[in-house]
Amino acid sequence: MPIDTEQKLKTRQPIVVVVGHVDHGKTTLLDYIRKTGVAEKEAGGITQAVGAYEVEVPQEPKSRESGANGGTPHDVRAIGSETQARRSDSAQTRRITFIDTPGHEAFSKMRSRGAEVADVAILVVAGDEGVKPQTLEAIKTLESSKTPYVVAITKMDKPGADIEKVKADLAANNVSVEGYGGNISFHGVSAKTGEGIDNLLELVILTAELEHLGYNPDATPKGYVLEAKMNKNRGTEATIILKDGVLRRGDDVATPSAKGKAKILENFLGKAVEELEAGEPALVLGFEGVPQVGEEFTARDISAIKSRGAGMIPNGKEAEKDKNALCLILKASDQGSLEALRDIITYLDPTKPLKLVSIGVGEVGDNDVKLAISTDSSIIGFKTKVDKAAARLAETHKIKIITSEIIYDLVKAVQDFFIDLDKKTSLGELEVLAIFNQEKLSKQVVGGKVTHGSFRNRSVVQIKRPSSADATAGKDEQIVGQGRVTNLQTAKKDANSVGEGNEAGVMISSDVPIAVGDHLIINE
Ligand code: GDP
Repeated sequence: MPIDTEQKLKTRQPIVVVVGHVDHGKTTLLDYIRKTGVAEKEAGGITQAVGAYEVEVPQEPKSRESGANGGTPHDVRAIGSETQARRSDSAQTRRITFIDTPGHEAFSKMRSRGAEVADVAILVVAGDEGVKPQTLEAIKTLESSKTPYVVAITKMDKPGADIEKVKADLAANNVSVEGYGGNISFHGVSAKTGEGIDNLLELVILTAELEHLGYNPDATPKGYVLEAKMNKNRGTEATIILKDGVLRRGDDVATPSAKGKAKILENFLGKAVEELEAGEPALVLGFEGVPQVGEEFTARDISAIKSRGAGMIPNGKEAEKDKNALCLILKASDQGSLEALRDIITYLDPTKPLKLVSIGVGEVGDNDVKLAISTDSSIIGFKTKVDKAAARLAETHKIKIITSEIIYDLVKAVQDFFIDLDKKTSLGELEVLAIFNQEKLSKQVVGGKVTHGSFRNRSVVQIKRPSSADATAGKDEQIVGQGRVTNLQTAKKDANSVGEGNEAGVMISSDVPIAVGDHLIINE
């Protein structure tokens, strides 16, 4: 791939959710942040059209005193529609997208589906009440989903508010807040007076900055459905939040349960726009059905996805192997479950080669296993069992059969299969163990070990990076950019290629600074 078409990551605004115990002030805080300074600036006042909104925050508030007594006057603006068309963060302001769905139902649903919609959370704890059962539940969810968060100690204007008691409460529940040996930031706020809210938003920005949130403007737009309903006059209205790419009017859109065309795109103020960047919420009109809350959506040519089903063999015909695709046999207890499974797997990741060798209702039988042996397939069973003979045959021939009642488990299994396939089909992979020179991005010199195949000079590589600190090799990795190998050495001598298990020095040209732990992957 020519260098000028390499992926370029752009910074995107964080998507933030507010969580905490009932009545601790989530809605009031969100309302305050949304309404402050908006009504007069927007012609006719702000009418939020979707369950999410964007605000603009000054980069550095005038003072940064801590606690509820020292807050500067709140200074946050919702984004005006006229600035919506095309913009990037200016040096003085940063943007935040807040998810503002009633009861945060979407948030909990999305969590249970494993979707990572929020980048940062604000955990609200009332200053006069301290930690309560739902606070603990929220902490558990945030910890298990590894969502970074800051703590807002609310209602600081109330006489009974005691910031120290809340901090001690949190520390007693293993939340390591600043001042108690931890690094989780907190700030006292009042959504009645606005005290401390700009400082809180600054903490959100700082926390988001540590996440290095980026998106690829050339990537297939991807995001999540926050809300969806049928409007008598306008058809399906789906609120989506974009996490990657740029969504344009006219794009095909699809979730596992619905598809269509983005005939109309509206920003969060209800204004029609031509395109939206990652990080921004939007209303999409044009889905043919009503997508489900929490589903992932992508935007691309639906016909391309449909053709994946072409891999299914008509009755009686010989199935073929496809070494470059993930070959699957799908089984489910009933027709409805089978269709749901097929749709979810088919739409899971349109960038990955998938071939559905066969789909059918009923138990996994030895015929399925025989077909898997002849086509090098794996078997996925949803709400169904494996018969004993089939299980024995599969064990002998090392055929993978994954069954579950929970669709998410199956999705995870298929994602893992895709990772294995990537490894099998990649021509060469090198793990970066040291960075020697990074003065110029076009001449970065790194050292590493070839972990797979053979690593060749003058090849184009994808740079994959573990997305979380504890990611095991190959899992939870994301492509952060591309590069071109301009020199390759092993044992201090120039080489055309270096084989698996050997160490190599690589000079590479890339827009992205390479880091220790990255995997450089040659696919073509
Ligand atoms: P939620 O259930 O977490 O969304 O809580 P709400 O935002 O509905 O707030 C619950 C109650 O606390 C309401 O009566 C609010 O007016 C009140 N409240 C929320 N924030 C503050 C605050 O900062 N100061 C005071 N005095 N009351 C607040």
